[in-house]
Amino acid sequence: MTRESLREVYDLSKRTILLTGGAGFIGSHLADRLLSLGATVDVLDNFSTGYAHNIPKGVRNAWKEDVAAPPKLPAYDLIFHLACPASPPRYQADPVATFRTAVYGTVSMLEEARKNRSRILLASTSEIYGDPLEHPQKETYWGHVNPIGPRSCYDEGKRAAETIGTDYRRKYGIDLRIVRIFNTYGPRMDPFDGRVVSNFVRQALDNLPLTIYGDGSQSRSFCYVSDLVEGILRAGLVDRLDEPVNLGNPAEFTIKELTGLIEDVLGHPLKREFKPLPEDDPRRRRPDISRARALLSWTPEVSLRDGILRTLDDFRARHPFHPTDGTLP
Ligand code: UDP
Repeated sequence: MTRESLREVYDLSKRTILLTGGAGFIGSHLADRLLSLGATVDVLDNFSTGYAHNIPKGVRNAWKEDVAAPPKLPAYDLIFHLACPASPPRYQADPVATFRTAVYGTVSMLEEARKNRSRILLASTSEIYGDPLEHPQKETYWGHVNPIGPRSCYDEGKRAAETIGTDYRRKYGIDLRIVRIFNTYGPRMDPFDGRVVSNFVRQALDNLPLTIYGDGSQSRSFCYVSDLVEGILRAGLVDRLDEPVNLGNPAEFTIKELTGLIEDVLGHPLKREFKPLPEDDPRRRRPDISRARALLSWTPEVSLRDGILRTLDDFRARHPFHPTDGTLP
């Protein structure tokens, strides 16, 4: 299944789709893709970490409402439920709101799916594996999560979302798909969202030292956003998907290696500044994507070097950054 053949196989011109979190980084790229396949797309987003300017023009309705207390919605063929702050500093800024969004927001979307017999895709996360004792992480791994730490609002919120979603499937027979999204980066990231790639690229362009938390030996596996969107789309459109599926790029880098790569791509030396490692920061993370390969014929294509180049181009075009950059008009 190539990207071009997907267009023929999945003609979405008669589909109405609700995209929660469509003003966010990943959501807005998914909105673009759905529109390009001919879908009618509505967006529901409270703009807590998303921005009106991220929503593509072709979207039919864009509601600025909370997913946990949504407006009266029409019936949809398909719901892509992405709404939730996802960057650690952002989701920890209001942990109660994060948990509410992750859990109550998911329940309200599951209710929509149950009432209208819509298919629903739940965006879960690699954070459900916590600080993993199994490496790389397979979907069968139950995780190693602190239930009362600073990351718990998101980790446990998403775990509870998976639980209630699966119970809705068992009890009401809804057509639920779960994708576990690993670290994703690319154009349109908020330069101030606090994630490692957006921080480093912003800092590099502002001639600031790159802030390495801890000694930089912790690892992550970074997926370029177009690859991720392709995976989400396939997970939403295949005939059946009964098991959660990891979506991420299995190429693993330490944070130190990431600083070296950015330096290399820019072609000049960058300063580093070491800062304390945040509490419960996972030591390593890397998806096992055998399931996505088998069930979705999906595999990421963009290397970290190419993805960083494209991200740099996008950030350069938005430079100089302003701390209020992207806040609501
Ligand atoms: N990190 C870092 N410097 C930064 C931001 C993050 O060294 O300016 C580290 C962070 O401690 C973590 C990794 O980079 O180990 C990825 O952090 P991010 O917030 O992007 O996402 P996470 O994978 O932790 O959800």
